Amino acid sequence: SLSNKTALVTGSTSGIGLGIAKALAQQGANLVMNGFGDVQAAMQEVAALGGRVEHHPADLTRPSDIADLMRYASDRFGGVDVLVNNAGIQHVAPLEAFRAEHWDAILAVNLSATFHTTRLALPAMRAANWGRIINIASVHALVASVNKAAYVAAKHGIVGLTKATALETATSGITCNAICPGWVRTPLALKQVQDRAQALGIDEQEATRLCLGEKEPSMQFTTTQDIGQLALFFCSPAASNVRGVAWAMDGGWTAQ
Ligand code: NAD
Repeated sequence: SLSNKTALVTGSTSGIGLGIAKALAQQGANLVMNGFGDVQAAMQEVAALGGRVEHHPADLTRPSDIADLMRYASDRFGGVDVLVNNAGIQHVAPLEAFRAEHWDAILAVNLSATFHTTRLALPAMRAANWGRIINIASVHALVASVNKAAYVAAKHGIVGLTKATALETATSGITCNAICPGWVRTPLALKQVQDRAQALGIDEQEATRLCLGEKEPSMQFTTTQDIGQLALFFCSPAASNVRGVAWAMDGGWTAQ
């Protein structure tokens, strides 16, 4: 059980982050949520499962916002026991047409934000000699796809940061691991399916089959609930010596 523990999940107003927040709340954790969009609806979904729920609107492209977010978590709950670095953005374009602003934004949210939350969360975790840091990477942390240069680079970087964090905490009760999903049915993935449908003049069902068929042998999306359960495993006592892994949940994508 995670009662009396506080979890901070970045980008938890949607998709995978919301799924993980719900899984953690179900185990009794208090939640600090973060992200844009329909904040009230997301908070209600998590609050319905028990525990206290707060939200902080930090824009993770801004290190000063991240410092505010971490201060808020420690003011409200006395610190963060479970840190889930989940917020992420995508942009699809060939390298020659990839705009520098898109590169900078993706590196900021998908990689640098995790450096900032991690360095600010570690002192309280070290004081408690317990902590779980879970970084939501991607199959694109392990292999590349065309037209996703910034995303692939940032996600490969996250796996490096995960290993570095795991080593620096290896003799403590703090662990750091990464989850590498393939296709998960969330707004981020559905936008790519819709863009493909539009580009090829086909319907969404056919575009889904094309997207999955290219890469994911199971031909199935992973659910946000299943990713939530994997995150819970990393939080469990049984996972206390699982350190620095990049665990794929990808329908066989990276087995090929
Ligand atoms: P999503 O678009 O459904 O949710 C993204 C969340 O991040 C939202 O809550 C959004 O408000 C928040 N966010 C975005 N920019 C932010 C910023 N600057 N500051 C604060 N919050 C911000 O996406 P998702 O599919 O749930 O993705 C979550 C994570 O999982 C990402 O890191 C993504 O790369 C990764 N991932 C997704 C898939 C997939 O198929 N959906 C596959 C592999 C990895």
